[in-house]
Amino acid sequence: MVLNFLDKFRSNKAKETSDQNRDQISEPITTRKAPAQAAHLSTSGSSEVSPTSTQKPLVSAAQFSALGLKDLITRAVQAEGYESPTPIQEKTIPSILAGRDILGCAQTGTGKTAAFALPMLQRLSDAEVNGHPLRALILAPTRELALQIKESFVVYGRNLPLRTAVVFGGVGLEPQIRSLKAGVDILVATPGRLLDLMGRRAVDFRNIQILVLDEADRMLDMGFIHDINRILKMMPSDRQNLLFSATMPSEVQGLINSILNDPIRVEVTPVSSTTELVDQRLYYVSRADKKNLILDIIDDDKVQKGLVFTRTKHNANKLENWLNDHGIKAAAIHGNKSQNARQRALEDFRNGKVRILVASDLAARGIDIDSITHVINFEMPNEAETYVHRIGRTGRAMATGVAMSFCDHEEMGLLHQIERVTKIKIPLVTEHAYLKDAPTGNEKAVPMSRGRRPSGGGGRGGNSSRGGRGPSRR
Ligand code: AMP
Repeated sequence: MVLNFLDKFRSNKAKETSDQNRDQISEPITTRKAPAQAAHLSTSGSSEVSPTSTQKPLVSAAQFSALGLKDLITRAVQAEGYESPTPIQEKTIPSILAGRDILGCAQTGTGKTAAFALPMLQRLSDAEVNGHPLRALILAPTRELALQIKESFVVYGRNLPLRTAVVFGGVGLEPQIRSLKAGVDILVATPGRLLDLMGRRAVDFRNIQILVLDEADRMLDMGFIHDINRILKMMPSDRQNLLFSATMPSEVQGLINSILNDPIRVEVTPVSSTTELVDQRLYYVSRADKKNLILDIIDDDKVQKGLVFTRTKHNANKLENWLNDHGIKAAAIHGNKSQNARQRALEDFRNGKVRILVASDLAARGIDIDSITHVINFEMPNEAETYVHRIGRTGRAMATGVAMSFCDHEEMGLLHQIERVTKIKIPLVTEHAYLKDAPTGNEKAVPMSRGRRPSGGGGRGGNSSRGGRGPSRR
């Protein structure tokens, strides 16, 4: 099986590091922030570290500056508590600094935003310009992702005199037009809104030097190809192009061929690999019983932060109501919700006010929320790639996570497709309360090698007990 980036990351680092800092590197990335050290560095105003401080900040600074990043940027990275570059950062940062085009095959959770943002910030701040001409454009498929990218630029660029703005639909145009008029160096945008702004002559692309297409596959899935082509026509041809996509279907290939110039290819998570940090489980269950099964599972305390996927917005709303009616704090996020409602739901989920976020695929794509303990596919996704994306929401950045998939009769074809593409058999949970009405596969239960038990609790149907259940490998 293909090693995912974190496994490689850990094994490489383990080789390189001394016993003293090995523990620090094998910590989950979710606990990577080191506020005390970060504060020390960011207030010191210098890369010098006092003799009384630990070696961590120095190690970190050296590793990032070895990639060619300057002090003002490595300090911002340290303040974020990053201890060493992730593999995609190691591979892309020097090439972007050298002005090369990049084709990055990577999902969110690999550190890809910093992989392009850090060298871009450096290139832009190194150039001498008057004022704040728009020099970098990042296109992203969703508002949430666009906002996150913008926030990353602000955080990583905190010591630099560059301005970043974000524009997306669903909110008023006027404030966005005003902020563009005031001058921004870096613009993060969703394609539709950018076209609206172009129609109003609110953006000037003449000085664009760097273009990023983030989550290109998703942008094309969402039907943005014509918008993107119209935007591309307005760009100066002499520019650096960075294209990131978790999957490389043929439509993306077309875009790659038309815009990238002799790109450096960087791949950190192959399309068909599902992260090994995710404990995957399959539940055969009838459609009618899915709601009861999810209550059983969520009843268990271990589901501290659960992201639940449905295929339709309508089903997301229904499930949100069902969970709340049964005493489980849940919020839904999908394209029909207002921007404010989506932000509120995300914030409540992030800070633990709601335990369950029910999401459609598009709304969830790119959401960067640490420590999601469980992903539940309440409905199987239509495409294998979507399955990989969904389960990648947990098990992020060195944390382990659980991904549960509920599969009814009609979804068996989808399951087979997922298993064919990912080349894995998802371990089947053979003991739960609703198995009796479930589809009959040709499965044969054997003990699961990882020896973990599912978090599912006692069934509402009452025909199983809490103890002794476990996923079995088919
Ligand atoms: P991304 O793949 O860009 O969505 O990043 C995923 C998460 O990894 C974000 O929370 C980043 O803050 C974090 N991250 C990025 N680079 C590093 C690094 N070198 N060390 C630790 N965490 C990182």
